[in-house]
Order: sequence, then C-alpha cells, then structure tokens
Amino acid sequence: MTAKLIKGTEIRDQILVEIEADVKKIKDEHGVVPGLVTILVGESPASISYVTAKIKTAKGLGFNEIQDNQPDDISNEDLLALVDKYNKDDSINGILVQLPLPKHIDEKKILNAIDPDKDVDGFHPVNVGRLMIGGAEVKFPPCTPAGIQEMIIRAGVETSGAEVVVVGRSNIVGKPIANMMLQKADGANSTVTVIHTRTKDMAAHCKRADILIVAAGVPGLVKPEWIKPGACVIDVGVNRVGEKISEKTGKKIAILKGDVDFDEAKEIAGFITPVPGGVGPMTITMLMKNTLKSLKFKLGIA
Ligand code: NAP
Repeated sequence: MTAKLIKGTEIRDQILVEIEADVKKIKDEHGVVPGLVTILVGESPASISYVTAKIKTAKGLGFNEIQDNQPDDISNEDLLALVDKYNKDDSINGILVQLPLPKHIDEKKILNAIDPDKDVDGFHPVNVGRLMIGGAEVKFPPCTPAGIQEMIIRAGVETSGAEVVVVGRSNIVGKPIANMMLQKADGANSTVTVIHTRTKDMAAHCKRADILIVAAGVPGLVKPEWIKPGACVIDVGVNRVGEKISEKTGKKIAILKGDVDFDEAKEIAGFITPVPGGVGPMTITMLMKNTLKSLKFKLGIA
C-alpha cells in the first residue's frame, strides 16, 4: 500500500484563502480587521525567524500586525505593563509573546497575564480549562493540535469511534490533541490512548491505532511494524539530524526527520504526513485562525 500524503502546505494554503476572504468580508461589513501583536524580547535568531514568519503571514492576510521588540534586559514589571497595555487596546485581538523568554523573566507570570480572550496561542489556564470542557466553551484551541485535527478532518479520515493513539504527553501537543479527539464533537468522538516514556508496551498500543499521532521528538521512534495497515499517521516530530546545502539558495540548511520512518511507514499506512511539509506549516495558520476568531467573538459573529 502507498499512503495518501496529507500535505500541510496544501491545507495551509486552502485555510489562508478562507481566512483572507473572511477578513475582507468583516472589513467590508464592520470596518475592522484582526489585530495581532507579537512581543519579541531579545534577539535570538530562532525567535526572530519565527516572529518574522508570523508577521509576514498576518500582513499577507490583511491583519493589523504590530511588532513590539523589547531589549533582553526588560524587567518583569515592564513586560507585565506591556501585556496590560495590549490587553486594554481595543484594536488588538491577539497577543503573542514569543518564547523562550530570558531567564530573569517569570515566563508563567507573563503568559498568565495575557487576557484569556486575547490568548490566541491557547496556553492560558483558562483556555486549557475551556478546551477540557469542550463544545461552545472552547475559544482558542492551541495551534499545533488544532492544525493536526484540521488535517485529519480535511483528509476525510473517520474519527468517530476511531482508536486514536497519541505518543507524547506535552502540554503543547500530546495532552491537548488527546483531549480534543475525545470530545463529543465532529472531527473527534474518538477513543483515545496517550503513551509516553513509562508506557509498558508501546508497540501493542500503536498497533491498535486507526489514527496514530506521534509527538515525541525522537527520530524513528515509531517502527513501521507498529503501524496498523491503512492507519492515518500524523508525524508531529521535527528532529534536526544533520545539515545539507539547499539547492534553491546554496545555503546550509538543517536536514529534518520526523518521529516515524516515513519511507517504510508510507507503504503500510493509509494516510501519512511528511516531515517537513506536514504538521509544521499548520501551526502559524491556526494562529491566524484563532486571531480572526477572537475578532469574531468580539463582534458577536463567531
Ligand atoms: P516534549 O515536550 O519534549 O514532549 C515529548 C513527549 O514525548 C513526552 O511526553 C515524552 O514522554 C514523550 N517521549 C519522548 N521520548 C519517548 C520515548 N522514547 N518513548 C515514549 N515517549 C516518549 O515535546 P513536544 O514539545 O510535545 O514536541 C514533540 C515533537 O513535536 C518535537 O519534535 C517538536 O519539535 C515537534 N513539534 C512540532 C511542532 C510543529 O510542527 N509545528 C510544534 C510543536 C512540537 P514523558 O512525558 O514520559 O517524558
């Protein structure tokens, strides 16, 4: 069997077209556009590159995008005051504080200071609680899990009654996607198992999975023989396993591998996401969707 590829790049492009059309409609009917502020502390090249990609996407969609760069030595108090300023700013629907923050900053305190109704990353305890309750309570599902669920739905994979096995229990991927897939809702209604480093027989659990979501950060962790024939395999892992020269730019780039051995797995699975080009492109897209949603909630049209 050769699996159907679920390409994050294609699904991303479809969703961005939908968001752009919505932004235009809201602008015409209500005279406003979504406002997103990205707060970047310091000059870490990785953070700059993430923030730049977010800003580029937001601007391309017609959002009002504010980039607020702060020095490395900003105090906790000043950063809290900045978050408070944007909490009170009516033109801002989403506040994004790029992580990691410098060591002297109380990261938890800063993130918890964001107004939950502007927490488009979905990491505030209030939004984690809303996600757990499910249904109409959910405002901002965290972006990577939201992207995973969207890929499964758009690929036409049946989730109702499906055995979903999630490898990994992090707060940003494993736990939220497990919680989302077990909700009594379209694109969910699954029977979910979460496995981790203390799990006794990983292979036995994975072999039962109709949908296998792997987010461990260990290249090649899931062996091809653990995959049920025809299963949907979502590989969230992004592991740098070396470097190569880009054919396009001539510059050194990282060689990325997922947590699943793609070449062998694709001969067994029914659906599979590649790495790169699978889940990766979905995260920023879902951030944009959450920011648009935030404006819609405010306008009462969500
Ligand atoms: P994390 O916080 O390090 O959590 C990894 C989880 O995997 C933990 O729960 C850990 O179990 C489990 N795990 C690790 N090694 C294992 C093993 N040998 N057997 C069984 N379970 C194991 O990682 P994360 O932030 O969730 O990220 C996971 C991967 O997804 C990384 O490669 C990351 O780069 C990638 N990622 C991609 C995106 C994207 O594409 N947009 C977004 C986020 C993350 P314990 O809890 O027992 O330690």
